Amino acid sequence: MPLYDFACRECGQVFEKKLKMSESSDAQICPTCGSDDTRRHMSSAFAVGGGGRSAAPAVSVPPPTSRFT
Ligand SMILES: [Zn+2]
Repeated sequence: MPLYDFACRECGQVFEKKLKMSESSDAQICPTCGSDDTRRHMSSAFAVGGGGRSAAPAVSVPPPTSRFT
């Protein structure tokens, strides 16, 4: 099960929860203040181990040449 990071908007608490994919978009209760006004962060586990998708394709910026010299 993936590990998700949540941040409470009420008190700023950041906490982690193991959730099924289908539950990941559910509102989670802040363990500190009990608020359900929480936001999901991108899990750090994702960032570290989830690689594989390479960065955006390089966009070649044309050199600032002027044809009208
Ligand atoms: Zn809270």
